[in-house]
Amino acid sequence: MQQPNNSNPLHSKTLTYLKGVGTIKAELMAKELGIYTYYDLLNYYPYRHIDKTNVTTMSSLTGEDSNGLFVGKVISTEILGAKQGKRFVANITDGTGIIELVWFRGINWAEKYIELGNTYLVYGKLTYFNGMPQLSHPEIELHNTTTVQTKSTLDPIYSTTEKLKIRGLSGKGIGSITAEVFRQIQPNDIIENIPESIITKLRLMPRMQALYNIHFPATVQHYQQAVRRLKFEELFIAQVRLQQVKIKRNVNTKGILLPQVGSLFTQFYNDHIPFALTNAQKRVVKEIRHNMATGVQMNRLLQGDVGSGKTMVALLSMLIAIGNGYQACLMAPTEILAQQHYKKILEQLLTLPVNIAILTGSVKAAKRRKLLSQLLSGEINLLIGTHALIEPTVIFANLGLVVIDEQHRFGVEQRSQLWKKNIVPPHILVMTATPIPRTLAMTAYGDLEVSVIDELPPGRQAIITTHKFDDFRIKTYEFIQQQIALGRQAYIVFPLIEESEKLDFENLMQGYENVKAFFPEPKYLISMVHGKMPNETKETNMQRFVAGNTQIMVATTVIEVGVDVPNASIMIIESAEKFGLSQLHQLRGRVGRGASQSYCILLTSHKLTHIAKQRMGIMVQTNDGFAISEKDLELRGPGDIEGLRQSGALNFKLADIVQDKAILEAARNEAEKLVTADVNLQQPEHKGLQQYLIEDTKPVGWGKIS
Ligand code: ADP
Ligand code: MG
Repeated sequence: MQQPNNSNPLHSKTLTYLKGVGTIKAELMAKELGIYTYYDLLNYYPYRHIDKTNVTTMSSLTGEDSNGLFVGKVISTEILGAKQGKRFVANITDGTGIIELVWFRGINWAEKYIELGNTYLVYGKLTYFNGMPQLSHPEIELHNTTTVQTKSTLDPIYSTTEKLKIRGLSGKGIGSITAEVFRQIQPNDIIENIPESIITKLRLMPRMQALYNIHFPATVQHYQQAVRRLKFEELFIAQVRLQQVKIKRNVNTKGILLPQVGSLFTQFYNDHIPFALTNAQKRVVKEIRHNMATGVQMNRLLQGDVGSGKTMVALLSMLIAIGNGYQACLMAPTEILAQQHYKKILEQLLTLPVNIAILTGSVKAAKRRKLLSQLLSGEINLLIGTHALIEPTVIFANLGLVVIDEQHRFGVEQRSQLWKKNIVPPHILVMTATPIPRTLAMTAYGDLEVSVIDELPPGRQAIITTHKFDDFRIKTYEFIQQQIALGRQAYIVFPLIEESEKLDFENLMQGYENVKAFFPEPKYLISMVHGKMPNETKETNMQRFVAGNTQIMVATTVIEVGVDVPNASIMIIESAEKFGLSQLHQLRGRVGRGASQSYCILLTSHKLTHIAKQRMGIMVQTNDGFAISEKDLELRGPGDIEGLRQSGALNFKLADIVQDKAILEAARNEAEKLVTADVNLQQPEHKGLQQYLIEDTKPVGWGKIS
């Protein structure tokens, strides 16, 4: 019987006493690769294998960049160049051709190791230099035909560093010390962390076997089985952890009890609400209401496409909290958006006894002091603002509900600050219009409840989207004139991305001048907002557009999220190829908010990358944010999905949540079943898993999201 603590020798044994390592190499392994123990080494997988039986003849080279394995005799060695250009060059031949090997670093080592007349096995990526085939910093070993071949013909190659290479721990060398670890360990050292029944049901390779085969596979099939098992394991373990957090939180984290709907909600719902809720909105409000009435803290993600009416759901939820005697706050990612929420909510709650305030970075000191004291005394019921709300000086009397709008704009750290604003953690509702595909949501936010608004308010017409090249700009502007003649308004958006900020800024200014020239005053009036403007100017310009005093808004992506001007019916996106899909979709969502037909025109140059072309195609094809986020995920991979980058929950060693969707689903299902039945993993069959979770101390990705 194993002890349920970290007494596993694999975790305590350092590499120092491993045959062929020693103090210096052990220290280097730790410093260069973060590998300290036997366990770390076993979990350091090779990035590829070389099939030694698969040697390429030099005469058969096709001239493309590709990896190749060669056997050749050294026919020349020399040191060339000086200082930065200094390099060691050796030529090898297999009798059918010659390849040049080059080292720019580790020259001393190469000079010693590579001897004239010896035969070597070399492996690397072939490039051509002055027409000569060349391998730079190849994997290399003496080719001694009399050495006993290892059983396997698939030799592992590991990523390594120059410093380690010089010490003999090359991409291949790491394999030999890993093999040594395998010789020393006992079968019991590697605990099976997946219950037997799941192994059998899904025909997974046992853990010990999988670990061995990912390093030293007997055959390609063995390797594939090992990879499949280890991918499943990664995803399964992550899901078990998330499900445990979720279930334990539901049991343990006491939440604020909001037993009634309250008179405020009822009064507003009956007499003041400006429209009938969609069925989806009704359903979500009900989910939130029930959740907050249970006494368990709510942690809910509300996903809804652009324009689906999330703000009204937020308002109704906040009215429930306030009606129960608590305070509520709404945090928005930009000043413009916070102002907009504030004005709109103020208007909607005009005749109701709710004291509303706004707090942003631009609120002046005296006003701020007064506001903070009113907040502390409980005089203010509803606080709207930007991330200024997070600051420690902002103290509530009794905060019951936190709503975070457009959550992908906030970092995890910022969100967690809001948790602490009450002794009993407030209920949390995070809203996003950048829907995350289901599989991703399950992985990244597996411990959250998820609500979805999957219906747009009635009467909305689909936005007509077209993709045109720059030379169509005049026609586009003429079209804007026609729309303005019908009483509508237009956005013209320019990219402003950080890397080329200065250039972009010049483009924006140039663009603004061009627009002004085409749309002369006084017939046309133009607003402009961009991130570099003082907040007050931004606000004034925005307000002029909202009020209909200007017909055209020239802007950067500061208007990307949330801005709501229903009369705007045209969105022109300049240099659309510079935007990501979710950004394009967000921008397009600024129009189509009223009843009239809206248009989005994507302007690009003729030079488009393959991916940019695909993006334009997707935008033209669909208005559905969920479909777009699926495509985005396929095109860019999870690492680039906004808001998930920092999550860490998606960084798996082997698994790729796009490619391995099926494995992910299976892992999630099994984990959910298991944890629901036995949250503390007390059943005998779950002992190995429990022990593994104790031993493997990797932190949970999100844990508490908000
Ligand atoms: P988002 O989900 O993008 O935040 P908003 O909450 O800004 O969307 O709502 C978009 C627009 O639709 C707003 O003008 C809002 O007043 C309006 N709206 C919301 N719900 C409804 C509804 N049920 N019927 C009609 N209009 C609605
Ligand atoms: Mg919104």
